[in-house]
Amino acid sequence: MTQPVLEVRNLTKRFSILGGILGRTAAWVHAVEDVSFTVAAGETLCVVGESGCGKSTVGKLILRLIEPSSGQILIEGTDVTTLGPAAMRPLRRRAQMVFQDPSASLNPRLSAEQIVTESIENYEPLSRSARRQRAAELFVRVGLRPDMLDKHSFEFSGGQRQRLGIARALSLRPVLIIADEPTSALDVSVQAQVLNLLLDLQHEYGLAYLFISHDLGVVEHIASRVAVMYLGRIVELADRAALFASPQHPYTEALLAAAPLPDPRARSDRPVIEGEVPSPINPPSGCAFHPRCPYAIARCRTELPALRPLSDGRLAACHLRT
Ligand code: SF4
Repeated sequence: MTQPVLEVRNLTKRFSILGGILGRTAAWVHAVEDVSFTVAAGETLCVVGESGCGKSTVGKLILRLIEPSSGQILIEGTDVTTLGPAAMRPLRRRAQMVFQDPSASLNPRLSAEQIVTESIENYEPLSRSARRQRAAELFVRVGLRPDMLDKHSFEFSGGQRQRLGIARALSLRPVLIIADEPTSALDVSVQAQVLNLLLDLQHEYGLAYLFISHDLGVVEHIASRVAVMYLGRIVELADRAALFASPQHPYTEALLAAAPLPDPRARSDRPVIEGEVPSPINPPSGCAFHPRCPYAIARCRTELPALRPLSDGRLAACHLRT
């Protein structure tokens, strides 16, 4: 079997909440619980779920922007979970991030050329003119004009800023891109252009994408497979077509029912999700979805359903699915 670009094993992150006059841990936020998946070269795994489900935390954990409580992260077969800064350095360039808000993630004091080349400067002994040449080539590849290299990011439109963020992410020739809601701050007309650019780049360079999004329309456009998260856990992981055609977990079913339909006259017969997402500080016992699940049985309140393969090969965590 080909080695995946990214493998995540039993990843868990709990944040402590300090309280009392001694500042001791008073409670834990269960942000990510026992999450496992792989992403292959040329594949897009989309992670979806409501706000606060832990999907962005997964992305930050993989890049070690925050440290996991337990579990393993392997990039091209190397366990990066406990590597120190020096050992991590050559691997840092292999995984890059594209952020949600390009305005906030681009330094307004730097020129576009400096933004794209500052990582190259840290990692590759290239001359100034060779770095500029690399930046110009990247600009062309992401649909920007090389004569924009000397401009600053605030002189770019929203879509151009995100293209600049993508050029920066590509500057070290990574194998994995983690894209956290990369189109949600853009106008709808620009969203499709940026998504198609990401697909073209993936095709050209064989990139693996971990694509974090709450927008099921975007996910349906770009995903190879989809992992659905609820309160820090993956509850369903399936091929895109199978997931959208016949969601198996009741939460996935409810998410799809709540998504806007392409034809507003069409009506979904799926049950719509009700109630609020429970607090990750004190998640419900058993299946965390049971307070909102229309199919819950007594067992659901006491027994955590394992994420296991169903008859069609997808994974789902529900006592009622086989
Ligand atoms: Fe609903 Fe029970 Fe399945 Fe959880 S395990 S999704 S509560 S039926």
